[in-house]
Amino acid sequence: MLLLHCKCAFLQFIYKRNKMFNIVIFGAPGSGKGTQSDNLIKNYGLFHISTGDVLRDHIKRGTDLGKIADSFISQGQLIPDDLMVSILANVLDANEETKKGVIFDGFPRTINQAKALKTMLAERGAKVNVVVGLEVDEDELIDRLIKRGKESGRSDDNLETIKKRLIVYHNQTSPLRDYYISEKKYLRVQGTGSVEAIFANMKAEIDKLL
Ligand code: ATP
Ligand code: MG
Repeated sequence: MLLLHCKCAFLQFIYKRNKMFNIVIFGAPGSGKGTQSDNLIKNYGLFHISTGDVLRDHIKRGTDLGKIADSFISQGQLIPDDLMVSILANVLDANEETKKGVIFDGFPRTINQAKALKTMLAERGAKVNVVVGLEVDEDELIDRLIKRGKESGRSDDNLETIKKRLIVYHNQTSPLRDYYISEKKYLRVQGTGSVEAIFANMKAEIDKLL
């Protein structure tokens, strides 16, 4: 009996591990989504989709999409939902590796995007498993973004645009916190402290879900 139970538990574990595991990393601009995504990739071997990186790549290559994206990003505004959702769907379809599971970094940023993501994943027999919310207070966010602007030269990391991005975050993106709390998917993580300590907290909680 005990042997049978152990075998079942083991098979269940394998089954769960073989299923697509999708993580949304969520937080305000500068909350550390990109930094912690790197740690998540190393640990869980998931496919990383950073919508900010996808858009910046288009801007760098001077594509038509890049020109449209630049006009919104440089103003601290979001790319319209329809366009953003189709960009994300293309990335999912173009990369077989997304089937093993994805870290969504910078998406969704609106309730409409969250609903679209739910549908897109359901069509692929999957779902958002957990939303990791990095919580950092606003003064710290502004300090980090100004510092990053000096190092990276990103056109949206200047004080004027940072302030606009934070307003957009409060108006359009932060309602997602309640949305995912009501879906029982939100995992609050303190986003201040050392990168290692933040990740250790995050990992301990994610491992409980695997
Ligand atoms: P972080 O510093 O935590 O990585 P961020 O807000 O500084 O976050 P990105 O995620 O790289 O930076 O996004 C940069 C910009 O790209 C956003 O301000 C927005 O204009 C655009 N963008 C990125 N993702 C989306 C999205 N899902 N919907 C609409 N616009 C987006
Ligand atoms: Mg980023």
